[in-house]
Order: sequence, then structure tokens, then C-alpha cells
Amino acid sequence: MDAAEFRRRGKEMVDFVADYQENIEHRRVYPDVEPGYLRSMIPSEAPLEPESYEDVLRDVDRVIMPGVTHWLSPHFYAYYANSTSFPSILADLLSSGIGTIGFTWAANPACSELETVMLDWLGKMLQLPEDFLSETQGQGGGVIQGTASEATLMALLSARLKTVKCVQESDPQRSEADIISKLIAYTSEEAHSSVEKASIIGGVVIRMVPTDEHFSVRAETLEKMVAEDKATGFIPFFFCATLGTTPCCAFDKIDELGPICNAENIWMHIDAAYAGCAFICPEFRPLLNGVEFADSFSVNPNKFLLVGFDCSAMWVKKSADLTRAFQMDPEYLKHEHQGSGLVKDYMHWGIPMARRFRSLKLWFVFRMYGLRGLQAFIRKHVELAKTFENLVRGDNNFEICAEVVMGLVCFRLKGSDELNKALLKQITRTGKIYLVPCKLRGRFVLRFVVCGRTTELRHIQEAWKHITELSSELLQNLFDHEGKEN
Ligand code: PLP
Repeated sequence: MDAAEFRRRGKEMVDFVADYQENIEHRRVYPDVEPGYLRSMIPSEAPLEPESYEDVLRDVDRVIMPGVTHWLSPHFYAYYANSTSFPSILADLLSSGIGTIGFTWAANPACSELETVMLDWLGKMLQLPEDFLSETQGQGGGVIQGTASEATLMALLSARLKTVKCVQESDPQRSEADIISKLIAYTSEEAHSSVEKASIIGGVVIRMVPTDEHFSVRAETLEKMVAEDKATGFIPFFFCATLGTTPCCAFDKIDELGPICNAENIWMHIDAAYAGCAFICPEFRPLLNGVEFADSFSVNPNKFLLVGFDCSAMWVKKSADLTRAFQMDPEYLKHEHQGSGLVKDYMHWGIPMARRFRSLKLWFVFRMYGLRGLQAFIRKHVELAKTFENLVRGDNNFEICAEVVMGLVCFRLKGSDELNKALLKQITRTGKIYLVPCKLRGRFVLRFVVCGRTTELRHIQEAWKHITELSSELLQNLFDHEGKEN
């Protein structure tokens, strides 16, 4: 493909994507395919000779589209959103087109510098303490990680190294392996599984902290566990708080947990992957009070800020804790501006060396929506979730299972787990809307997350109508069955 053909095909592809998104609500949101469906539809080996673009595109319709779960559909209410937008898609196209890999400042100064400034912009939108911003020329700063999982892992590994060094300062004879075997991390029993995964990768023990009646970790619970563990020779070193848990969007009380972590030399990382985006609205910002005690904080603009995957913003109060832990300095990566206060070599801030020009997505989206536009987007989702909550509350067959704070509503049919599993199975089978479940206090619960950029009131009403029709059928069958048995 030469530039002339790319020009033509590129315009066609933009049309394809625009048509796809404009008409997405008419597609079945959850695909009707069986595992292994794709292998039989394409050859078992790559072609020896080039094929035509037309052939490839035809197969997108024939092979790919039937197996796509349409995350951008207004009927998609599962997980947390991938909230992309057209400006973000265009920025990604530009990033691919420039094809630059910004591991050091010298590898691409614009990539490194825009990332630094965008993390400051977002940090200010979130009203983060100045300690976390780069522009103050202090010790803090932000970086874009691929995912929240990577941000948590980076925080845990940095905390591990910092604690090992600290223990060895007072006890130089103690080996690294011995110290690591005694390290203990903590997180909520409601935390995302990526936190436990980080502890496995980091080779440290993790304890799940029980939550209160609002699914929040409270200070006295953590304090008690830390004291118990210290008494048995363990070294508490890391606590991952969650703001907006995955099952029900609960919030740990970071303002009371932070002082304990600070007093005990425990690194506090805050995972606010989804809900953190909403802190750009003043009415939600109080949930972030206590961030001043944290060592690191992360939020995924790709979940709730109209920025496409992947983009997880992470800030650290002392960037040297991160960079010192992972600094590698081979000759081929050295450059003349290394070490200048104005230069960031982001390869030292994360696991991969190579990195895409992801800050372009933030720049395009922030400029084209403005803070006001982004706040309006978040508020609309929260309002739609409240509408859904009211519909659920108005039906005696259903119950709400957790406080609705943002775009997530946890609900269930009053009755057994089996009944609720049967309802979800019917919802998935019909493919009109897509939800996933969670477990809350051992009970099977349905999660309804307002995800789509184009989700409107009518979609919420249609979704509820569909759910109640399916549940009425189920309840009627159950009633008939029980009637027969009696
Ligand atoms: N943390 C929380 C609170 C989440 O809700 C999720 C995913 O939904 C994650 C972490 C994992 O995010 P990522 O896929 O960016 O690693």
C-alpha cells in the first residue's frame, strides 16, 4: 500500500468506523458464537502471496464482526466502560501514523514532554496535592501506564525495594531474601484481583482486609491487622486502597487509613481506576480527601473520561522511589540531556521500555471536551444510573444491593442465587443487553454499569423493560413449577 492508496483507504476506514458507531445500537451487543468459531473461518497458515485490501476488509465483516462484543454499544452495561470518543480515536491514529516510540526524552521529546504536562493537567483537574505534580519541580510527577494493574504492580515493587533498603539500613546483615519473605501487603477483600496478582508477581504475602457494611476498609480494621502481623515478625509494607471497587463501587476511607500507613511506613497506593475520573466533578472530589497521605495514585481515563484504551494515569509523590527501583542505563539509551530536571525518561517509570504516544489522546480529548464537557459526561452517566436505580426500587420483585454513587447499580431479584443466575443467563442468551455479575457478601448480584458515550434515557428504560419481561417469565415458570409440586 503506498501513500496514495493509504489516503483513500484511510478515508474509507474512517467512514467504516463512523458508520459502525452510528449504527451500533442495532447490532446484537453480545455475539452469538461458540468457542472456536473463528479458526474454521480462516486459513490455518498466513498467506504466502499478498492478498488484496478488499479481501481483508470483506473478512472483517465475515469473520470478525460476528464475534465482537460491542463495548461501545448503548446496550453494553458490563464491567466498567471503555469510554473512547472520536477525538481519542483520531489521536490514536496520529500516534500510529507518527509511529514513534518514546522511551527516553531523546527518543521523542514531544512524547515525553506532552505526557508530563498532560499528567499535570489531569492532576489539577483532580485537585491533586502539588506534591504529585511535575510543574512544581518537586519530587513528584505523573506517568501513563498501560493499565491500572501495571500501576499497582509498579507501586508494590517500588514499595518492596524501598522497604528492603530501609530495613537493611538498620540491619545490614539481613539478606534481601529474608526481608522479602517477611513482607506483608494489604488490600480490601473487595479490591480488584490485579492487586493480589501484583503480590504474586512481587513474591510477597498479601492479606485481604474485611470491609464494613458499606464495603469500605476502615482504619481500625487495618490497624489491628498490622499490629498482629508486626507482633509475629512480619513487616507490613504496602496497602492498596480502592476508590470505586469493581464489584459495587465502594470507597475505602483513605482519610483515616492514610495516617496509619504514614505512621507505620506502609506505602499507600490508591487504585481509583474507574471512579477516580469522577473526581474532576467538585461534588465527588471529597471522596478523594486523604490522597495527601498516599505515595501513589492511579486512575484510568480509558474507563470514564472518553479516552480510549489503553491509558492509566499514575502519580507518585517521590518519583525517585519508582525510577530508582527500575533504572537501567545501557550505553545505547544514554543521551546528552539525561539527568536534567526538565527531562523525563519514562522507560524508568514502568515495566516496558517502549511506549506509545498515549498522551496525544489526553491532549485531544481534554481540549475538545474541556473540563466542563467531561464533567457533563460523567454527571449524565451518574444521573442515568440513578434513573435505573429508581426503576429497580420501584419494583417489589427486586432489591438494590449497594449504595449507588456513580454509574454502577448492583441489584438482584429477591430470591435465590439460582434464580438470579437464571435471569443473567437469559439476559446473555437473548443478547439485547450485556451485564456481568459479582458476589457481594457471598450473594450473586447483577451489575448494571452505564457505559456508553451514546447511552440515553430511552436505552435505560428499554433495558429495564427487557429485564422485567425476562424476570416475569422466570418468576411465572417458578410459580407454575412450585404449584405443580404442591
Ligand atoms: N482496579 C479496579 C478498581 C478496576 O475496576 C479494574 C477493572 O475494572 C482494574 C483495577 C483493572 O484495570 P486494568 O484493566 O486497567 O488493569
